[in-house]
Amino acid sequence: MTADQLAVLCQRLGENADPVRAVDGVRALAEAIVERVRDGVPLDELADDFDTLEDRLLAAGYAAGLSSVRSYEPLPGGGAGHPVLSVLKCPGGSCSRIEPPDADPPPCLVHRQPMAAARLRS
Ligand SMILES: [Zn+2]
Repeated sequence: MTADQLAVLCQRLGENADPVRAVDGVRALAEAIVERVRDGVPLDELADDFDTLEDRLLAAGYAAGLSSVRSYEPLPGGGAGHPVLSVLKCPGGSCSRIEPPDADPPPCLVHRQPMAAARLRS
């Protein structure tokens, strides 16, 4: 659960207009959370912080909280006939974020590194 929330956070921190960046109280907490992940704090211990983050998003009027429909879209090419053999994953293995392979990988904002290529087992 928390890894999925972190995956959404990881992705949305990269978007300037996203409420996790645009809303002050939310952004400060979001950054505190990713800093602790970077420091190696186990995700289990951050569950309360994620709950607080969700509450602040809701309080600020973002009813979707940390859920992100977009992050659960199937990968392009993931459909029948065109199996995706490699994907980009969180470089620190902290979150469950996955992006389609790209020559220019998007950064993981949790670890401040480009996302890492990984092969899918088929
Ligand atoms: Zn990540």
